[in-house]
Amino acid sequence: MTTPRRILVTGGAGYIGSHTVRLLLERGHEVTVVDNLSKGYRHNVPPERLCELNLADTDALARLLDRQRAEAVIHFAAFISVGESMREPERYFANNVGGSLSLLTAMVRAGVKHLVFSSTAAVYGNPQDNPILETFPIQAVNPYGESKVMVETLLRWFDEIHHLSSVCLRYFNAAGADPEGRLGEEHVPETHLIPLLLQAVTTGTPIAVFGDDYETPDGTCIRDYVHVDDLAQAHILALEYLLGGGASERFNVGTGTGHTVMETIRVVEAVTGRKVPYTVGPRREGDAPSLVAASGKLRDKLGWKPQYAELRTIVEHAWNFARKRPGTSPDQAGPAGSDKPFNFSI
Ligand code: UDP
Repeated sequence: MTTPRRILVTGGAGYIGSHTVRLLLERGHEVTVVDNLSKGYRHNVPPERLCELNLADTDALARLLDRQRAEAVIHFAAFISVGESMREPERYFANNVGGSLSLLTAMVRAGVKHLVFSSTAAVYGNPQDNPILETFPIQAVNPYGESKVMVETLLRWFDEIHHLSSVCLRYFNAAGADPEGRLGEEHVPETHLIPLLLQAVTTGTPIAVFGDDYETPDGTCIRDYVHVDDLAQAHILALEYLLGGGASERFNVGTGTGHTVMETIRVVEAVTGRKVPYTVGPRREGDAPSLVAASGKLRDKLGWKPQYAELRTIVEHAWNFARKRPGTSPDQAGPAGSDKPFNFSI
C-alpha cells in the first residue's frame, strides 16, 4: 500500500495527463487537477478534482498549492504541435515557457519542492544516431522542442538556487488508450499517426504518408510508440523517486523498438480487419527519419517496465477507444463542446 500523497497535476484533463491522474487516484493519492480546458476535456477528470485555472495566474496557483498542501507537481499543461509552433512561436514560448515559469514561481512561494515535467524527444532535434541516449546533444529544431529545452534549463536553475528537484521525462511517441476504454486520445485537430490511421479506416478518407524515400528499410519514418499507460506509470515512478529524496534527473520514455509508418499501417489493418486507404505524399518538414529511445536508464534507475510494449496492443487499445466514442472523433467535437458525462470512476 503506497502512502497517499497530495499531488497537483497541471494539464490533467488532457491525453497523457488524464491517464496519469487515473493511476494516481487508483493508488489513493489526493489529486488536484489544474486545467484551463483549452485542449483538455472536462469528462476526463472527476469534477471535484478539477480546478479551472490558467498557468499564467501565479497568485492563484500559489494559493492553490498552499491550500492543498501539495507535496509535488506533475506538469503536463502545454501546447504540443510542432507544425503550429513553426507558425506561431510566440504562443509556444508564452504558454509553454511562460506558463512553466509562473508555475515554478508559485511552487517556490508555496514551498513545494518536487516536479515531474513532460519533456519530449524533440529536444534532440535530428539526432545523428539511434537509439537515442539521454546524453546526446540537445539541439531542438522547432519552437515546440525549444520551449521544452528552455523549461529543462529553468528547472536546472530552480534546483541549483531554490532546491526544487525535478524529473524531466522525454516522451517518444505516446499512443494507445486506457485498456478499459474509459480514456483515450482526442486531440483537435488530430495530427498523430495512429488516431489518423484509425480515422482513415473508419471514414474511408485516405491518409497521406509523409514521404517514402527515407533511408529506412521501407523508406518511411521510424518512431518509438509507447503506450500511454506505460507513460503514465513512468510519472508515478518519477514522483516516488523525487519524494524519496532522489536528485534531479532526465529520462527517455520509449520502448526502445521502432516501427516504420508502413509497419504501423499493417498493424492497424490486422487489428481493424480493414484496409487503410492511403496515398504517399511529400516529406513533412522537420521530420527526423528515425527516433528510437534508449530506455535503459529509466528501466535501470526507476525500475520502469512497459506492460504494453507491443505495437499491436497499443493499436488494439486505441481502436477500442475510437470505436466506443465515435462522437468524439476530431472532426466532430472540440473541447468547448465537450459536455459528455465524466468518463470513469475510481
Ligand atoms: N505521419 C504520416 N502521416 C500523417 C501523420 C504522421 O505519415 O498524417 C508520420 C510522420 O511523418 C511520422 C510518424 O507518422 O514519421 C509519426 O508522426 P506523429 O505526428 O504521430 O508523431 P511525431 O513523430 O511527429 O511526434
